[in-house]
Amino acid sequence: MLISILLVGIFSGGIALLLSPFIPSWWTTFGISFIAIFAGMFIRNSQKERKIEADQLEIYAKADLLDHRNTVLIECPCNNNSFSMQVYPNELNSYTCTVCNNKFNLDLRIEPVLQTEPMNLDSAYSIFKELGSHPDQKVFEELSNKEQLHNGSV
Ligand SMILES: [Zn+2]
Repeated sequence: MLISILLVGIFSGGIALLLSPFIPSWWTTFGISFIAIFAGMFIRNSQKERKIEADQLEIYAKADLLDHRNTVLIECPCNNNSFSMQVYPNELNSYTCTVCNNKFNLDLRIEPVLQTEPMNLDSAYSIFKELGSHPDQKVFEELSNKEQLHNGSV
């Protein structure tokens, strides 16, 4: 703060010196410059603070959303306790049951479940054959090898 005042003072003094041929009263120019620069700095700082506050609110909102998405209902194997807790896939998620007093680790298994139809190699191969080749030549060759295996020609 003290350094800022000193710098604004020096800057205002410089401006007053530069304008001294046009405005004879150095102190008046100095005072006006000083106040103007300080007011400008104050406005800029308060705008920055508002931006930081808005960013912080956004970060908190995102963190809340993330917490909400990671909150799951846990039913203890003792069958006497169920509660919500935040669970993270790449962390050790453990809890101590308040009813049975046992400590548990949650075993999270990520298993892909096929949502699309299994790929039909015959039709995929014929599409690539019509196109001449696939941009990824390896895929094309792999598919044709699989088709030969599938048809029993190898
Ligand atoms: Zn329990």
